[in-house]
Amino acid sequence: LATVTVDGSFALEQSPFDIVQVDVTHRCNMACSNCYIPNRDVPDLDAEWILRMLARLPPRRNIRLVGAEPTMRSDLPELIARVRELGHHVSILTNGLTIARREYLRELKDAGLRVVYLSMNGGCDDDAYEVVDGLRCAKKKIQAFENLAAEHMYSSIGIIVVPGVNEAQVGNLFRASAQNRGMRELHVRGVGAIGRHMDAPNQLKLEALREIVATQTGVPLSDVPERGEGSSYVDFDIGRLHMQITEWPDLGSKRRGRLTLEGTVAPFFEHVMANEGGY
Ligand code: SF4
Repeated sequence: LATVTVDGSFALEQSPFDIVQVDVTHRCNMACSNCYIPNRDVPDLDAEWILRMLARLPPRRNIRLVGAEPTMRSDLPELIARVRELGHHVSILTNGLTIARREYLRELKDAGLRVVYLSMNGGCDDDAYEVVDGLRCAKKKIQAFENLAAEHMYSSIGIIVVPGVNEAQVGNLFRASAQNRGMRELHVRGVGAIGRHMDAPNQLKLEALREIVATQTGVPLSDVPERGEGSSYVDFDIGRLHMQITEWPDLGSKRRGRLTLEGTVAPFFEHVMANEGGY
């Protein structure tokens, strides 16, 4: 039986989570309206410490290197290679500005990266990016998307839906992803009351998100699964594209853990909310 500590975290050796997220840096090259990790004053985690901690996890875990923005670290390629040497699977979650430069994405690929989560809150629309992410960055986001396709990476595209701003982008991303073999997942989520965030009228519940996905993809709502008991998300496939719809924060989730500074692994959302402003 796993030993749970008083704050609900687990010893690394007994991590029950499918995915372990590591906030490798708090630096970022964007300033989005919705950011679960808005504090830029926390120093980067030491690479050797990260690797010592990850070596204690059960074998072949899914390690997600996140940030703020993980590509702000100049040692990211080395970190990727060394996490793989530990026998774990490795992915990154990025805003895409840096991987819009194809040579850099290839450098990460050469280090062993195969899985990338790319946020595209404005889809292909600069006006939507300006509202949701505070930057007219559609060109770079689209370039990042195309680079991932060209490098045959297993790619997941994520969008935070803000009502009246970017619903149509769900449909655009769905069609663009369906046409690219490397695009494997589309994650649609609502604004969550966590970190820096837009206010309550923008925070869509799971039912509203399901309806938007049905409308934008043309898949009847009856084919989009309903919420299971106590669940904040639904998972299903449309053709070969895996879809995930999540109401944030996904409290009680057993899917995602977070490496803590105490060298334990905690439920991701609960830990972020308990440590807002810090790590
Ligand atoms: S949401 Fe991501 S890309 Fe946007 S400011 Fe926060 S860390 Fe940076």
